[in-house]
Amino acid sequence: MTTVVELARPGRKHCQSTPIPPARDLTWEQYAGRTCVVCGRRLTSDAVSRGWARGRQGVHVLDVEVWACP
Ligand SMILES: [Zn+2]
Repeated sequence: MTTVVELARPGRKHCQSTPIPPARDLTWEQYAGRTCVVCGRRLTSDAVSRGWARGRQGVHVLDVEVWACP
């Protein structure tokens, strides 16, 4: 099962090619930019911006810039 292997061992390509999840599906650490938006690994100063996760909760806009492994 290729999918299982990729999830268990996230690589750079995986983290930078996986679509960004909706903002409401992020953990608070991902939302804060502390961990990779794809694999959840803690990021350091060489994190790469993946763009913006979009979301809305009632009148509140949840849009946030998200980061991934380098
Ligand atoms: Zn990652």
